[in-house]
Amino acid sequence: MEMNITKWLTVGASAWVVISCVSFPDAQNAREAQLTQLTHVAAYGIDPQLSINKNDMVREYPVDKIAAHTYVIHGPLGYFSVANQGFMNNPAFVVTAEGVVVIDPGSSLQAGRMVMKQLRKVTDKPVTHVFNTHIHGDHWLANQAVLEVYPNAALMAHPEMIKGAPGRAEEWVNLVQTLTEGFTAGTRAHIPTVAIGDGAELKIGGMTFRIHAPRDAHSNTDIMIQVLEDLVVFGGDNLMSKRLPRLDDATFKGSIEACRIAADLNAKRYVPGHGPTGGVEIVKAYEAYLTSLYAEVKKHYDAGKSDFEMKDAVVAKLKPYADWANFNDVVGKHISLAILEIERSM
Ligand SMILES: [Zn+2]
Repeated sequence: MEMNITKWLTVGASAWVVISCVSFPDAQNAREAQLTQLTHVAAYGIDPQLSINKNDMVREYPVDKIAAHTYVIHGPLGYFSVANQGFMNNPAFVVTAEGVVVIDPGSSLQAGRMVMKQLRKVTDKPVTHVFNTHIHGDHWLANQAVLEVYPNAALMAHPEMIKGAPGRAEEWVNLVQTLTEGFTAGTRAHIPTVAIGDGAELKIGGMTFRIHAPRDAHSNTDIMIQVLEDLVVFGGDNLMSKRLPRLDDATFKGSIEACRIAADLNAKRYVPGHGPTGGVEIVKAYEAYLTSLYAEVKKHYDAGKSDFEMKDAVVAKLKPYADWANFNDVVGKHISLAILEIERSM
């Protein structure tokens, strides 16, 4: 937080006002907390908790209401870039009677601040819980922005994510900062502490959140969250729509199975990790991509072809998906990964 404290000191230097309602996520660091309380003043007017330089927040994206209590901010489809300010996932929230449950607040402190600002246009209720669908930093590095306003929010994730994130967080922090040319500077990893696994069910403010954790699917740390009352499923990156993911941590078989599990939940609305929300057809479309790619690669592999030799034929087979974002960038890699998976299964 050094950078932001410096900034707050600068903007707040002329008005040393203690604002008692501001609290700080990193409670163990009393000095930082004290500094923040002294300097986090209403320098920009309206709301001290969001009194930030506009350069410290991703540009605003609309909030889409997709069910009675459920809202999604659909992020851009590309990969981290200067143009998208490192924002590319689908942060979401569910407003319950007791408080707000946030799902995957985004990729950076700056993305999360935008999400929190939009959330507050919908409700004044506090954020009590945050679900992180998996270990990839584009989904959870914005936990910091939630804690900035609601330091007591419970951060929840798959136990393997909690175990694995400390070793991988820096890599993600640096990646998004590099690819945005420093826009996300100041972002720090706040790793979830509450483990939730397959079959867990949480009742929060009259809403039921059921966890489905498919094995070896997108990242080996995946949870999908079913909101029973709203007939909504948050698939994390097990579901994709009009956009293809990196599958470096995935298996095709596990990803296909995750799509089947999701489809069987008979939800009305499926929220993918990236791309537009839709009905079960988006689940079927992504499953069909994975299934066709794997089957086609297997066919050519069995005929003795190398990845280079089979690429044109596989790409031709995948024509229905050629307009999905990232297709040209990732399809070659997906073919190589499918070959490795075929070889491992032999
Ligand atoms: Zn991912």
